[in-house]
Amino acid sequence: MPGSFKTEAVVLRSIRYGEADRVLHLYTPDRGRVGAMAKGARRVRSRLGGRLEPLSRVRLVLHEGRGELCTVSQVDTVHAHRALRERRAPLERAAQACEAVLRLLDSTEPNPPAYNLLCNELSLLDARPERATRAQALSFRLKLLLAAGFAPELASCAACGEREHLGGFSPSAGGVVCATCEAGSFPLSPEAHHFLVIALASPLSEAPDAPERSLSQADRAIAETLEHHAHVRLRRVA
Ligand SMILES: [Zn+2]
Repeated sequence: MPGSFKTEAVVLRSIRYGEADRVLHLYTPDRGRVGAMAKGARRVRSRLGGRLEPLSRVRLVLHEGRGELCTVSQVDTVHAHRALRERRAPLERAAQACEAVLRLLDSTEPNPPAYNLLCNELSLLDARPERATRAQALSFRLKLLLAAGFAPELASCAACGEREHLGGFSPSAGGVVCATCEAGSFPLSPEAHHFLVIALASPLSEAPDAPERSLSQADRAIAETLEHHAHVRLRRVA
């Protein structure tokens, strides 16, 4: 039904359109993914444009027309995340986080935990650029899996329930597996398993670290779980 509504959003992506407009991919807490048109946003004196940069957290008034895209009629900045744009590592991690949300959460179904997670990640990278590490990025991705309903089974064998000798990870079974059920799995070291467990249980700001080899295994476990169960392929976290 046409009309206006207010919402908060993170700008995931902004694409040039026509002479002076932008098409925005927004992620909102109460409407999931929203597509919007910001008319005249690329004009030098546009009040909209400067506030609608990707990675910004904003408060918007959107107008629903008959088309697929809403139109932005008002925008206020909640958090511009200016500091994170000034350094390469946090900027890249923030872009990765938005990309993951863009690929994994593409419906209009609201997912407030996923929205809060993204906001926390962006403000952490903004306030503490030194936290822009591979381990932290993997922790974010793992928590995003949880918010999206694809968290891997880590406490017991995903195939038979055995709680000991969990030395493999099976994307198709959806988690760690024991020696008996290891067909179709790849080796997961105790350190990598521990990393996944602690990363899932800790707040983002206290994400654990682990040796590179363990992080690579954790990365593979996360990526292949997504490919298998969400049919989404994300770039690996290097
Ligand atoms: Zn088993």
